[in-house]
Amino acid sequence: MIPAKTCPSAGSLSLDTLAVHGGSLFEGLTGAVSVPIYQSSTFRHPGLGESTGFDYGRGLNPTRTELERTLARLEGGRYGLAFASGMGAVSAFIKLFKPGDHLLISEDLYGGTYRLLNDFYRRYGFSFSWVDTSDAAKLRAAMRDETRAIFIETPSNPMMKVTDIRLCAELIHKKGGILAVDNTFLSPYFQNPLALGADLALHSGTKYLAGHNDTLSGFLVHSRDDLEEPLRNIQKSEGASLGPFDSWLTLRGIKTLALRMERHALNGRRIAEWLRGQDRVEKVFYTGFTDHPQFALSSAQARGHSGMVSFYLKNGADVPVILRNVSLILFAESLGGVESLITYPLVQTHAAIPEPMRLSAGVNDRLMRLSAGIEDADDLIADLEAAFACCGRGSGS
Ligand SMILES: *Cc1c(COP(=O)(O)O)cnc(C)c1O
Repeated sequence: MIPAKTCPSAGSLSLDTLAVHGGSLFEGLTGAVSVPIYQSSTFRHPGLGESTGFDYGRGLNPTRTELERTLARLEGGRYGLAFASGMGAVSAFIKLFKPGDHLLISEDLYGGTYRLLNDFYRRYGFSFSWVDTSDAAKLRAAMRDETRAIFIETPSNPMMKVTDIRLCAELIHKKGGILAVDNTFLSPYFQNPLALGADLALHSGTKYLAGHNDTLSGFLVHSRDDLEEPLRNIQKSEGASLGPFDSWLTLRGIKTLALRMERHALNGRRIAEWLRGQDRVEKVFYTGFTDHPQFALSSAQARGHSGMVSFYLKNGADVPVILRNVSLILFAESLGGVESLITYPLVQTHAAIPEPMRLSAGVNDRLMRLSAGIEDADDLIADLEAAFACCGRGSGS
C-alpha cells in the first residue's frame, strides 16, 4: 500500500507541516513525493481470500485514502471519509439516523443543506428544528427527548453568527446524541470542532481545503470507533465517494492551506474594514470585529477569522449595479478559493430556503456575501471602489 513511512504522530507536528506532508511522507512503491492519482476502478486480488487492502474503487482508493488520512490529521481525528461533495458528506451524516429521530439544525446555514433535509429526509420521517443556535436559550428550549443530533455551522452562512460548540456538545451528549459541526467557513487551520467536543467535523472541501475553485469534495472527520463502520458502509453503499483525480486535486490544494488561510484572513479583514467605512453600506457581518456580538466566543474557540464577509447595503437597487461592475472580484457562487468571489445569497446559495425562514435568519434582498481570495488587498478594494462608484448613476438609487 501507499505509505512507506507515515508522518510522525500528528500531536508532535504543527498543522502547517501536516498540511504539506499529509498522511504519508511519500508513496511506498516508488518514493513519489506527490501521492499518485490511482486512476483505477478495481484492484487485482493476489488469490482467493487475499487482498492488498483495496478491491473496488467505490469502497477504497489509495489516493482517496491518503486524503482521508490527511484530513483526519488536520482535524485531530482518528478517521476521515471523503465524499464527492460537501452535500455527499451531509447526506452520509443524516443516514446515521432513522425515521422519528429529531435533529436540531442551525437556522442560518448553507441553503443546499436545508434543501436536502427539507425536500428529502423530512419526507422519510425525520424531523428537524431550525434554530438560531447562536442563542443558548433558544438552543436549550429546542431540545426534545427524541433529539438525536445537533448540526451547526459556525460561523454561519451567510450571517456569521457564532455558536458555542462546547455548549452544543454538552447538551446533546446528555441525551446520548451526536454533534456535527460544518467547519467549512474556518477550515481546520482556524478551528477544530473535535477538540471542542464535537463528534463529527464536516467540510465542503470545495471551499478552503481544495482552495482553487477547481474541484468539489466533502469530508466527515471523527474519532468515534462506533461510528466508523456505519459511516464507511454508508460511503461504500451510497456511492458518493470522491474520485481519485479530485482526491489528488484536494490533496494538492491542502499543501498550501496554511499560507492561503493567512492571506484570506488578511484580505477579509481589509475588505471588512473598508466596507464599514462606506456610506452605501448599512452593516458589515465579520467575526473579526471586536464588536461582533460573539467576538469573545469566536476568539475562544477559533484561531482566526477566514476571508468571509457579509454586508447589508442600505439600498437594494445597488445590488445589481455592484454585481455588474466588479471586474476582478467575480460574481459567482462558492467561497474559499484563491479567486475572490461575491454572491447574492437571496438568489444563489439561499434560494431554496422559504422566505419567512430566510428573513428570520437575516438573508434579505440587500445582503451580499464576499469571499476574499488571495489577490493583493489594494487591488480588491480598488475593484470594490470602482463598482460602488457606479451606484446611484441613474440606477434607481
Ligand atoms: C458549499 C457548502 C456546502 C456544500 O458543499 P458542496 O461541496 O458544494 O456540496 C456545505 N456547507 C457549507 C458551509 C458550504 O459553504
